[in-house]
Amino acid sequence: MDHVSTRGPSSSPANPVKVRSVPLAPPITIKFLGPLRGLLTHWQRGHSVPCDGAGNCPTTLHRSGTLFKAYAAVEEWISHLARWRPCVLEATANLEEYLRGRVLRGEVWLLSREDGVKLTRPVVAAYLETIPEAKVSPAFDILPIVQRLFNRLDLLLDVPNPTPRHVVLGDVAAPPPTVPADLLPPPPPAEDPVERQKLRAAIEASKRQFGRPRATDSASAGNGRAASPAPPSGDGSAGNGNF
Ligand SMILES: [Zn+2]
Repeated sequence: MDHVSTRGPSSSPANPVKVRSVPLAPPITIKFLGPLRGLLTHWQRGHSVPCDGAGNCPTTLHRSGTLFKAYAAVEEWISHLARWRPCVLEATANLEEYLRGRVLRGEVWLLSREDGVKLTRPVVAAYLETIPEAKVSPAFDILPIVQRLFNRLDLLLDVPNPTPRHVVLGDVAAPPPTVPADLLPPPPPAEDPVERQKLRAAIEASKRQFGRPRATDSASAGNGRAASPAPPSGDGSAGNGNF
């Protein structure tokens, strides 16, 4: 049977643009062509459905909680082909917050998942470089691609991220605070060498008197085995007597 190829020249195949979320591994390198555009979704019967806004969503579904996602026209670096491939990036609420306020267009980012074990792990974003505008492809329209993703034409895009923002502050290096002497805990009492020697002697005497439990048990069992009590340790250096 003959196959009809709908592709263009083999050097530059054209394919439907896919939606790309940040995978577990390996990290992806993407270049932004356009801004991130927010969308609220609900989780229904195992998949995401778009939120139509209060009053338009079924009440139960709308009250079930929302999940924010953001979409942007990007190009992904395909290293084995040495090409940038157009795709739509699906960003998490955290990633959108992290990238908020940036120009984004022309910026190249390395995106990965923290510890790379579960898809629910936070996305880690590392800025790589900014490509000059003259070398950045035109932004394409992501709306039909997101519409196709949800199989819906009436999407409410450009919804702000409702997730409470992180408050990010750094530690401040400084000399230690001054604490009045009467607020400080009392220093530990100086060790008395005479008392310490008395304690040590008492412990040694106790060991000599009671011996080691295992040896005592064997001797008292009277079963004929060649069990001899442990010799008393004269200088305290034997065994595990580190006092
Ligand atoms: Zn809703």
